Amino acid sequence: MMKNIKKDFPLFQNYKSLIYFDNAATTQKPQQVIDSIINFYTKHNANVHRGVYSFSETATTLFNNARKKIAKFINADVNEIAFTRGTTEGINLVALSWAEKNIFAEDAIIISQMEHFANLIPWQQFAHKKRVRLLIVPITNTGELDLKTYQDFLSNNKVKLVAITHISNVLGTRNDVEFLTQEAHKFGAKILIDAAQSVAHEKVDVKKIDADFLVFSGHKLLGPTGIGILYIKYAIAKDLAPVEFGGGMVKQGGFEKSTWLEFPYSFEAGTPAIADVIGLGSAIDYINENINFDALKKHEALLCSKLIDGLSKFPRIKILGPIEQLKKNGHIVNFVVDGIHAHDVAAYLDKHNICVRAGHHCAQPLHQVLDLDASVRVSFYGYNNEQEVEFFIQKIEEMLKKL
Ligand code: PLP
Repeated sequence: MMKNIKKDFPLFQNYKSLIYFDNAATTQKPQQVIDSIINFYTKHNANVHRGVYSFSETATTLFNNARKKIAKFINADVNEIAFTRGTTEGINLVALSWAEKNIFAEDAIIISQMEHFANLIPWQQFAHKKRVRLLIVPITNTGELDLKTYQDFLSNNKVKLVAITHISNVLGTRNDVEFLTQEAHKFGAKILIDAAQSVAHEKVDVKKIDADFLVFSGHKLLGPTGIGILYIKYAIAKDLAPVEFGGGMVKQGGFEKSTWLEFPYSFEAGTPAIADVIGLGSAIDYINENINFDALKKHEALLCSKLIDGLSKFPRIKILGPIEQLKKNGHIVNFVVDGIHAHDVAAYLDKHNICVRAGHHCAQPLHQVLDLDASVRVSFYGYNNEQEVEFFIQKIEEMLKKL
């Protein structure tokens, strides 16, 4: 059974009637996370890695402890995770560092039709610049990856990298990343997993997946904005040259030449987002203490089932994702309404204090494939409940009668 966690999120105490169904965009923050940031600024604020005075040492300890917790959370070693601003920055850094040195003209990169801009545009730009082939795995008519084409791409091209999402932020599709990784490795390709939509909803284990690169954002994981994680397998990270330079990453600095610290410090030039790192560490503590991933999955899937069953009664509504999969393990349900633009649906719901996302969700090419310009996305987290879904369906029914 999912524990009642809503009371831990102060935003819901301040807005009792709010129904927040936009968790794929960003999650709300528990008091514990907010307190840890306030606590840092009010009691421990100092820069890290620099001062010899005890205040700076405490700040450094808090910062290093957060890195240990976050690494453990995804079963990485502490020297395999670098702090970034988020998923987007993590992917760009892989393109600028590893890809720049290892992928050349006539090589290929595989992505899929369901990628967020963050995992599409960096590779598209890289492909243009380096004359690399970008192979795009299509989706099936149920919104899943076409695995046959994926395997064909791997066997017929010189694929150096597969960059693929764990869970689609539009369709809610959960990709079997362990299978995708095994296949990529069979052909000597590396794999990058965009875990932005999965890491808050299930146990993500980089060793079990055997990912080479994995990225996510703190703000979708109950943590603050502006902080994210770039995981790189040690065997790759240990030889990786940095792409940004400055304080905090230099081993030996001189006017003529300099040498660099090892990863992750080599990828963390300048003062890091100290309070946000500590805040993300606190989000991990909160999850470890309060969230059982099996119970969370069941709870969110139950909400998806209820919503899908409710919406399926209305012939004007079309649900876009893999319905059977979502009922089993989803947290995102996306739909369109015949005759009402997605923005108007969201605006109608907003009048009833319901927050949903409308638009192309930074996946415009996927919407082109689906022949749509926009869709409505409902995305759940553990603090949502069945009454909220019932109220949502009632409001949709009212809207359909009026518009
Ligand atoms: N990838 C996926 C699947 C996402 O859902 C998102 C955000 O919505 C991102 C990448 C980008 O995350 P951020 O904006 O935090 O960098």
